[in-house]
Amino acid sequence: MATTRAKKVRNSAENSALAARLSREITGDVLFDSFSCGRYATDASFYQIVPAGVVVPRTIDEALRALGMIRDDGRIVTPRGGGTSQSGQTVNHGIVIDFSKHLNRVISLDVENRSCVVEPGIVLDDLNRRLRKHGLWFPVDVSTASRATIGGMAGNNSCGGRSLRYGTMRDNTLSIDAALADGKMLHFGEVPRDLAGLNSSDNGLDLFVDMLALGEREAAEIAARFPKVQRRVGGYNLDALVPRNAANNMAHLLVGSEGTLAFTTQIELKLWPVIRNKVLGVCHFGGFYRAMDAAQHLVKLRPIAVELVDRTMLTLGREIAMFQPIIATAIRGDPDAVLIVEFAEEDQADNIRRLKQLGELMGDLGFGWNNPRPKWGGVVEIIEQGLQTGIAEFRAAGLNVMMSMKQEGKPISFVEDCAVPLAHLADYTERLNGIFARHGTRGTMYAHASEGCLHVRPVLNLKLEKDVKAMRAIAEETFAMVREYKGSHSGEHGDGIVRSEFHEAMFGPRIISDFREVKHRFDPGNVLNPGKIVDPPPMDDRALFRYPPDYRVTRLATALDWSAYPGAGGGFQGAVEMCNNNGACRKLEGGVMCPSYRATRNEKDVTRGRANTLRLAISGQLGPDALGSDEMADSLKLCVSCKACRHECPTGVDMAKMKIEVLAARASKHGPSLRDRLVGFLPHYAALASRFAPVANWRNGSRVLRMLFEKFAGISAQRALPAWRRDVFKSDVDTIGPADGREVVLFADTFNRAYERENLDAALRVLVEGGYRVHLPRPADGGRPLCCGRTFLSAGLVDNARTELDRLVTAFAPFALRGVPIVGLEPSCLLTLRDELLSLRSDDTAKSISTHALLFEEFLVREAEAGRLRLPLGPVAGKALVHGHCHQKSFGAFKSVEQVLRLVPDLSVETIESSCCGMAGAFGYGADTYQASMDMAELSLLPAIRRADAAALIVADGTSCRYQIKDGAGRSALHVARVLAMSLDSPRSNPTPCPAAKEPLNG
Ligand SMILES: Cc1cc2nc3c(=O)[nH]c(=O)nc-3n(C[C@H](O)[C@H](O)[C@H](O)COP(=O)(O)OP(=O)(O)OC[C@H]3O[C@@H](n4cnc5c(N)ncnc54)[C@H](O)[C@@H]3O)c2cc1C
Ligand code: SF4
Ligand code: SF4
Repeated sequence: MATTRAKKVRNSAENSALAARLSREITGDVLFDSFSCGRYATDASFYQIVPAGVVVPRTIDEALRALGMIRDDGRIVTPRGGGTSQSGQTVNHGIVIDFSKHLNRVISLDVENRSCVVEPGIVLDDLNRRLRKHGLWFPVDVSTASRATIGGMAGNNSCGGRSLRYGTMRDNTLSIDAALADGKMLHFGEVPRDLAGLNSSDNGLDLFVDMLALGEREAAEIAARFPKVQRRVGGYNLDALVPRNAANNMAHLLVGSEGTLAFTTQIELKLWPVIRNKVLGVCHFGGFYRAMDAAQHLVKLRPIAVELVDRTMLTLGREIAMFQPIIATAIRGDPDAVLIVEFAEEDQADNIRRLKQLGELMGDLGFGWNNPRPKWGGVVEIIEQGLQTGIAEFRAAGLNVMMSMKQEGKPISFVEDCAVPLAHLADYTERLNGIFARHGTRGTMYAHASEGCLHVRPVLNLKLEKDVKAMRAIAEETFAMVREYKGSHSGEHGDGIVRSEFHEAMFGPRIISDFREVKHRFDPGNVLNPGKIVDPPPMDDRALFRYPPDYRVTRLATALDWSAYPGAGGGFQGAVEMCNNNGACRKLEGGVMCPSYRATRNEKDVTRGRANTLRLAISGQLGPDALGSDEMADSLKLCVSCKACRHECPTGVDMAKMKIEVLAARASKHGPSLRDRLVGFLPHYAALASRFAPVANWRNGSRVLRMLFEKFAGISAQRALPAWRRDVFKSDVDTIGPADGREVVLFADTFNRAYERENLDAALRVLVEGGYRVHLPRPADGGRPLCCGRTFLSAGLVDNARTELDRLVTAFAPFALRGVPIVGLEPSCLLTLRDELLSLRSDDTAKSISTHALLFEEFLVREAEAGRLRLPLGPVAGKALVHGHCHQKSFGAFKSVEQVLRLVPDLSVETIESSCCGMAGAFGYGADTYQASMDMAELSLLPAIRRADAAALIVADGTSCRYQIKDGAGRSALHVARVLAMSLDSPRSNPTPCPAAKEPLNG
């Protein structure tokens, strides 16, 4: 990097002096420790540069003060939003300033003129949620909308799938307020060519004069060298400076400048009316080349998007149960590729008319359902809204499956967004596949056919020199081909480190010297994110890679089975390295992932931050024994083990399982704490505590004992512990129910057995009245009741958990092996049998138990679907407000709760849009995690409960969830089994079969 600042090695004393100065001036976080810096060393590219420090300012003023102090200390500064850049834009030496946590206000909104002014850290989805009620939206709909910030989108000149209609970020940016590296604040907006009205350097006169002069001087060169495709996001937007009719928008020079020219403090955006009506035409093609060739013709009908899905993605989609019905409806026959054409005119009749024209056009192009390949094809019309959404979800999921390859080679982003004129798209894609094949790799193509910008990631293992060489060769050959077609080598994801080096070949030396001139004029001291766009390092400098040549993971002892993944620790390394930093775990709404991030908005407390910390730790980059260190424990402290990431992370990062490894490493290094022992061994002392319940419950009634528990055991004095009781669940017999009934095992877990026997009583009653023969197996040793080992796992006591599971497997094996379902009530316990059991035992008996383990409601839905469920359910008038346990959601089992409740006559069922309740087993009881637990609950669950009608039934299957609801909102929640028991108590008609559940079990 051509910067002395970047190369200057700082010693720790200098770092601490700067950190101390920043901490005095900034109320936001100032993070200079190696763990924090490591978390900001990567983005969604394959690069890694560890910064010297990170500042998370609370206000724009603090951000500017930090900029000044860092600059005066001779350091470089990299502004950062969501850190989802794919080209290495946000990684650098020096200090990172994170705008995403606090600087996310809408400053003003002008509905009439359709514009708004926002701070740079606001996330696109968040902005659009706020705009929706005004009938407006910001339409640069990047795939990362759930975490991409407007500042980062402007930094990269981001583009959405519908850019055909709405253009890129540049087209929708009206003005930008920004600070130059020297701290001067300027307004960058539309200016007349003669700059009338600007009268001093304080409002940018000198700078703008120079820039417009450069535009005028270079107009011919710019016209000759800048690709004419819409998707040209590479380099600085010098074309914004050339003489236009009357005015130039100076903000457009900043858009796409990747934090190298100025520090954005607020952005004025152009808004659009929301799309009210749309239709899709799914154009089928018997040959991929034909599909690519057709794109240039289809866009003439003025759709808002034409998106490609190829055969590989269709095949992947067909393997996912939830997409099978969608593909069955939307896809006819066996196409090589489909182009999904979207029309969205105000008038739906207009959309339908265009859809018909699309069919005619396909016919004119020679495609027909009865033709032989490659001219086989036609249009499937999709008018129904639900199916349109399903198709969009399928497209996203297909990509996710591709990204979740568990091998060393991964799909790598570096030629992934080249854009070529549509007339050349077919030849381009054919030749691109040839380039991949020549270098021994392959890639699946998808996305924006309407823009000639197809995403494709060849599979490479960048830990190997030979694959790095292949990457370089593929990049050179591809970019040369793109130049030949007068396309753009950087069509969506920006330049960063991966692309900037190729600017010279793309734009020529004169334009490169213009880029340098711009950079120097704005930032003569090279303070702002140097090494991007101008004077970049080589894209294949392995020292800058996430996996540099000396990257090693050695001597890693693990407790669980990770054999599905490659690498050290029996595969733990491969599992950790699955995180590609795409940032989906930073979403703030929808789904469950990641509750701790939603509560704190800290990079430390998000799945990505944790996975990065683990990767750095196991590869020795955070010092010796980092896995068992206090800092590592702190990195995982707020992970509630909700397992949402296992389900919702596009690459399936399973942090809850990884946390068990860290807890185990820590327990073996330091021994379990008193709290760990109290939590872990609960199943062992539960019987004794129950017998002496009045004594065991003293703690809850005594302030002093609460304080002592907090001091010595780390259990929050603010929480009442679940009350012990003498009348725990017990059964004198091993089997209940009719001798000829269908068999089922009821797993009486420790929590329901000891604290809430009413749930087990209710479940037993429902099953017996349904005609089932219920087994309640006892342990072979005749000792204390069976347990799934969950409490031990949550304390990192893996060997104890294994012992518990061994007892359980022995007791349940005879049933599972002859196909008897094993039904449980507590999601975290029952689902341990489907999940962790297989990480501890891989024998056939364990697999059989895992296969037959069903949640109570899953079992009932299955029986109802098979027409076997006979329950005399009576009406329960009113509303059930349901909160799903996060493990239910992670295993796709939550829908069954809703389905079962819908079997109850007269009961209306409403689901609370909630993430984790925050209690999460012992988490909510920790003195050090109590507040985070309440913060998580307050995000959506508790407010929804407080809003609920007093007569509504609150339903929650998780023991922890019920306690959290009780503690936080003073309402008692019921397990679904108890609602069914209420329904049985209600007078009703004959025990006819329950109506089959309307949706399939995992629908
Ligand atoms: C799976 C995946 C899909 C993607 N899909 C798309 C897509 O559909 N379309 C698309 O265009 N991109 C896409 N991207 C790329 C990326 O998500 C977008 O570019 C996104 O807009 C970046 O936003 P961010 O907040 O993460 O920015 P960051 O990555 O944090 O930053 C981007 C740039 O902006 C600069 N910056 C940030 N804040 C400021 C500030 N206040 N002042 C000055 N400079 C600043 C940074 O220095 C950096 O150079 C995708 C990425 C991934 C991983
Ligand atoms: S944990 Fe998953 S969702 Fe989060 S950044 Fe990593 S890969 Fe993406
Ligand atoms: S298990 Fe839950 S809290 Fe932990 S990282 Fe995953 S999503 Fe976040």
